Amino acid sequence: MNRRELLKRSAALMGAGLWGGSELISPKSREPDRAAEGQIMTVTGPVAPEDLGPILPHEHVISRFGEPPARRPDYDLSALFDTVVPILERVKALGCGAIMDCSAAYLGRDPLIMRRLAEMSGLHLVTNTGYYGAVDDRYVPDHAYDETVDQLADRWLTEWSDGVDGTGIRPGFIKTAVDGGSLSDIDRKLVRAAARTHTESGLTIAVHTSGNVTGAREQLAVLEEEGVHPSAWIWVHAQNVDAPDALADAAERGAWIEFDGIGPDTIDRHVELVQAMKQRGHLGRVLLSHDGSSFPPEGSEPRPYDLLFTTFIPALKEAGFSGAEVRTLTVDNPRRAFTVRIRN
Ligand SMILES: [Zn+2]
Repeated sequence: MNRRELLKRSAALMGAGLWGGSELISPKSREPDRAAEGQIMTVTGPVAPEDLGPILPHEHVISRFGEPPARRPDYDLSALFDTVVPILERVKALGCGAIMDCSAAYLGRDPLIMRRLAEMSGLHLVTNTGYYGAVDDRYVPDHAYDETVDQLADRWLTEWSDGVDGTGIRPGFIKTAVDGGSLSDIDRKLVRAAARTHTESGLTIAVHTSGNVTGAREQLAVLEEEGVHPSAWIWVHAQNVDAPDALADAAERGAWIEFDGIGPDTIDRHVELVQAMKQRGHLGRVLLSHDGSSFPPEGSEPRPYDLLFTTFIPALKEAGFSGAEVRTLTVDNPRRAFTVRIRN
């Protein structure tokens, strides 16, 4: 479905009194960005996917998680650069080609810092657009409740075309999050706005869903209503799902299944998760990351994001995974997942 059809439908819904939008939507007309299609959009510009090696699809290079929401995070810059640059240099030396930074707006996202970090470390970094609706919507700004779905999508599409916060630094994916159980009104709205943003931009939608199987199914239903294929959607924190068949069902439909909590104590568990997907024939839909955090707020422990290279890949090989399968998991899958492309 294109935007014009969507607008027609929204106008019809408003006319029928089914949708509480109080003003008519007048979206800017946007040309699809052909130059970005088929590329991965990093904070220093588009990069050909085949030029990237292994990609970490879910880390927090910088984060204010746990602190009050802030439009502009207040970082101690010299401490930040001193801490983070060596960490990025190290993962780059271990073979990492790019990191997707999942710190969303209002919980630590800062595109200018990310670009500086990419320049200083030589590692490709990717930032995001969208709003984070988990932890009881603590990081959802007030305007998200007042505005229509299309107005929210318009904000995120403006970040896509003009850069995050007007910096010219463009997001490489949409990051949102939902709370547990059936989708709340605001979480459903965020997912729908993400779907419409995808339809216009081709940006992949990564949704913190965790073990919420009901919420995952409802999200896929929203995507279907919006004409977005499940392959544009990532089930974030899927390692918390204790029903492997639910993950296999979503993978069967084309969704990406992200096991992103790799840590020192989870190696065996993560190998089992990947094996379960392999047995069900869905190795080609699995993403792996740490959900690490290299510059958390004071009082939070940093979480490393080098274990994939130092410990987890060797553990996979020991468990019988071939080099080609490891490449599928760490190179081909994330590359395909994050390549800008409209999927309908
Ligand atoms: Zn995370």
